[in-house]
Amino acid sequence: MLKINDYKKYLEFQEEVKENLKNLKELDEYSPSLLKENLNLLKEKGYLGVPYPKEYGGLGLDYLHYAIVICEISKICPSTGLAVAAHTSLCAFPIFKYGDEEQKKRYLIPLARGEKIGAMGLTEPNAGSEASAIELQAKKNGNFYILNGTKRFITNSKEAEIFVILSTLDKSLGKKGITAFIIERNFKGFTIGREEDKLGVRGSSTCELIFEDCEVPKENLLGKEGEGYKYIMETLDGGRISIAAFSLGIAKRAYEMILKWEKERETKSEIVYKIIAECDTLIESATLLTYYSALLKNQGERGDKESANAKLYTSEVAIKVCDYALSLYSYYGISKEYNLEKFFRDAKICEIGEGTSEIMKLIIAKEALKNFK
Ligand SMILES: Cc1cc2nc3c(=O)[nH]c(=O)nc-3n(C[C@H](O)[C@H](O)[C@H](O)COP(=O)(O)OP(=O)(O)OC[C@H]3O[C@@H](n4cnc5c(N)ncnc54)[C@H](O)[C@@H]3O)c2cc1C
Repeated sequence: MLKINDYKKYLEFQEEVKENLKNLKELDEYSPSLLKENLNLLKEKGYLGVPYPKEYGGLGLDYLHYAIVICEISKICPSTGLAVAAHTSLCAFPIFKYGDEEQKKRYLIPLARGEKIGAMGLTEPNAGSEASAIELQAKKNGNFYILNGTKRFITNSKEAEIFVILSTLDKSLGKKGITAFIIERNFKGFTIGREEDKLGVRGSSTCELIFEDCEVPKENLLGKEGEGYKYIMETLDGGRISIAAFSLGIAKRAYEMILKWEKERETKSEIVYKIIAECDTLIESATLLTYYSALLKNQGERGDKESANAKLYTSEVAIKVCDYALSLYSYYGISKEYNLEKFFRDAKICEIGEGTSEIMKLIIAKEALKNFK
């Protein structure tokens, strides 16, 4: 699948990304101006459209390049990493995959160029893990659809200008009623609601989205009526690769802190060596799972089990390595001095966003049983 010479090409790319991210800022509180600075830096380097073709404003690179970019950003600033993952995987992807040519010109190109930021709204007060329970209602009315309802926990709410929104045409149809739309921030009847006060990734915005008789032109229907469930499952499958890469970035940062700590200490201890060895193995394994699911995506395969494996495992690794780092740094671990407590808080989000660990386990078990002959 991946030849060793090809792998070198990715390692060189990783070095180039590291160099390009030198001025990226580490955020722990939401600051519109600092987040914008970070996003502008990424826009200049083309990192807001890595996996999309050049003709649509992207860098034209593959999913492994994309995973590397998310990992390196998250190593410095998980909040920015999450914002870029939501923009690229959750908003731009369904438009790229299911949008018509006009929608790609109007929405994908500015997203991939980084001229506009994107968000995706699936989660609602009564629909999270169970996407088919969506209640946000869409009713056809002449040349418009009228949307009513609420979304919550939506990343990039404050900076996004383009939103992919999941709704239902008829709740009694379950999955078959789910329909996707592309919403512009200035559409009548669409407002941004309450902002969440989160444990981690506090530098990214997470808000409610409110739809009150929101008029959506019929041209903004994404794909076909009743097919939104299929679109969102494929979108989340790819999104999980980016959350695995995000988790990997956090794990690598904490691991580097452990290595630094041990290098600078005069007395060496076997216990720390064991921790280093364990963290190294965990991170190498998590890297392989993440890269493997990215390579599958490059081949146009769904890889539900592989991306769920990567997300589940890598998020656990991020938490474990951050926990070790925090303990080794003892007082300095929990103080703000080294920012380790921030990475620890950021890591917890890996187990929730784009499907919780319990949901990952359900996907993995169902796929494993389906494939067992
Ligand atoms: C920082 C952050 C950013 C986010 N960004 C976005 C975004 O941009 N767009 C978006 O749409 N959503 C976003 N979310 C929402 C996220 O995807 C949901 O929180 C997640 O899918 C879980 O849904 P829920 O919170 O409704 O929990 P629930 O689905 O209510 O689950 C609650 C608990 O029950 C468990 N559970 C539920 N069903 C089962 C089951 N069948 N078997 C076993 N256990 C089960 C879950 O694992 C969890 O522990 C974000 C969340 C966070 C924390």
